[in-house]
Amino acid sequence: MGALLDFVLPHLCPGCQTCMHTPGFCCPCWMKLRFITSPYCPLCGNPGVSSHSSLCHGCRTDTPLFHKHRSLWEYGPVSRRIIFALKHGRQRHLAKLLAHWVLPLVLEHVVDCIIPVPLHQDRLRQRGFNQCALLATEIGKLCGIPVNFSSLERPLGAPSQGRFSPQQRQDNVMGAFSAKPELANKRILVVDDVFTTGATLNACADALQQAGVFSIHAVTIAKVSR
Ligand SMILES: [Zn+2]
Ligand SMILES: [Zn+2]
Repeated sequence: MGALLDFVLPHLCPGCQTCMHTPGFCCPCWMKLRFITSPYCPLCGNPGVSSHSSLCHGCRTDTPLFHKHRSLWEYGPVSRRIIFALKHGRQRHLAKLLAHWVLPLVLEHVVDCIIPVPLHQDRLRQRGFNQCALLATEIGKLCGIPVNFSSLERPLGAPSQGRFSPQQRQDNVMGAFSAKPELANKRILVVDDVFTTGATLNACADALQQAGVFSIHAVTIAKVSR
């Protein structure tokens, strides 16, 4: 059946939708993907630090509220297209593919449960699904760690972060989340699509800390370098 489907359905490069003979990225997209490899900041996962033990400038001046974040790729043209296709193009199958890619990063963390960054209910109704929840679901299937969709909520809506400065992003999203007390003493892995300034993860971490969690880890698909 799989072979028949391979014959009938073409494989598309996830980065540019070019038809391929085999699953995976085409060569030009593959060459543009920049995997984040060691050394990276042990706290926020930013590449470009001099050694694996040295914090990046951003973490030294403004320490994040989460304990460790890792991202798969540096944010660039191909990762941007893939994330956009997952988020706005309704290409939900990409969640499964991305989950396979980020699995090794997930396994670097010892956690009790996985929590996707929640969408405000208005945004959820508008989009019809939460791309981070899709991703977390697929990651959970692969690693067997339970995925929790209800204990971190986003009761406050916020305008899209796109046009804001880093400080405005932080001010805009801080206080937007609330975490339930059942998360107390748990080790949490938060899943998001893009790490831009860290404002969203910081706001999640703030809510999780107020609920008394033991530790806050995070994994994203792509990270904007700083
Ligand atoms: Zn391609
Ligand atoms: Zn850092």
